[in-house]
Amino acid sequence: MKKSGTVAVLPGDGIGHEVTHQAIRVIEKLNAEFAAGLECTTAPVGGTAYDLHGHPLPPETLELARQADAVLLGAVGGPQWEKIAREHRPERALLSLRSELELFSNLRPALLFPELAAASTLKPEVVSGLDIMIVRELTGGIYFGEPRAMATDEEGIRIGYNTMVYREPEIRRIAHSAFQVALQRDKRVCSVDKANVMEVSELWREIVTDVSNSYPDVELSHMYIDNACMQLVRAPKQFDVIVTTNLFGDILSDAASMLTGSIGMLPSASLDANNKGMYEPVHGSAPDIAGQNLANPLATILSVAMMLRTTFENSIDAQRIENAVKSVLASGLRTADIAREGEDPIGTSEMGDAVVAAIK
Ligand code: NAD
Repeated sequence: MKKSGTVAVLPGDGIGHEVTHQAIRVIEKLNAEFAAGLECTTAPVGGTAYDLHGHPLPPETLELARQADAVLLGAVGGPQWEKIAREHRPERALLSLRSELELFSNLRPALLFPELAAASTLKPEVVSGLDIMIVRELTGGIYFGEPRAMATDEEGIRIGYNTMVYREPEIRRIAHSAFQVALQRDKRVCSVDKANVMEVSELWREIVTDVSNSYPDVELSHMYIDNACMQLVRAPKQFDVIVTTNLFGDILSDAASMLTGSIGMLPSASLDANNKGMYEPVHGSAPDIAGQNLANPLATILSVAMMLRTTFENSIDAQRIENAVKSVLASGLRTADIAREGEDPIGTSEMGDAVVAAIK
């Protein structure tokens, strides 16, 4: 049963405005023709919000995000905000949204559309048909662990340190998240850690194994992070769902994104324990092409498909979007980032037109 509900749309900065505009057009078409029932309200975030209200995440924007069933975010950042105080930088808004909304589970699919196999830096036979989901723990681990500091020891030598720490409940909830995702897919989870060296990884492995007992239909394997990096570029199709820590997931998901050719194609979701989520393209605000109708809107449009499927349990309309994107690519239409030499690229709004028209 699909759910209707509210979406806080936070376009952000740079191409964030252009790509979310196209995503809203897709939602409007689904509302008008297929009764998707999504009510969108837009609010500023990032540098745009700082310019308007003196803060990258104004209280009204945070409240809107809290009240909504889902958040659709464009991208934040840009050179004009790089010199302002750290706590007011656009990127701060993202970290605050993740922690305020307790979005601990980051889902990053690496899916290669067959039409784009030639756009990957890997050989087409290695990547064609690729369909991996990386589930990254997002609110714990070494990026947040204490103690952390840059300091000087008693001998006057400068030292820097961070702490990778996980509490059992944090591991349990991300493991559940990964197994639930796997149930909707090929039912295989590979947990990536460094249990041969680190105690925190030993605990990780123990807890993930324990949680797997609740999912007898899902096959669990374990892999060390160094091997996982190698396997991801050697034979990426062996993976279905990968679950890992914040740090390892950061690295693995960026590597996986390159397998698929363009950053302009990759959606993502960050979820809380009730599948409320913030959905956003993996890319940033791309100041180099902002305002020129050059950005690829497909990552943001595909983020709407993830939102429909996950938060609104509406896989029919999610599939409508994915089919529309496939048919547009099959018809040969390409924005500049995915066009091959000799192909005449189309702009952001023309790609939006094509997807909207292809939704059936
Ligand atoms: P970026 O992802 O914005 O751009 C990297 C390159 O990819 C650029 O050449 C850009 O033109 C291209 N690109 C990105 N998205 C594209 C799209 N949809 N279509 C076509 N080409 C696309 O990364 P960056 O240049 O390192 O960062 C720019 C700004 O974005 C910085 O301020 C950074 O902090 C911010 N950023 C924000 C997020 C986010 O909001 N989630 C993520 C990454 C970077």
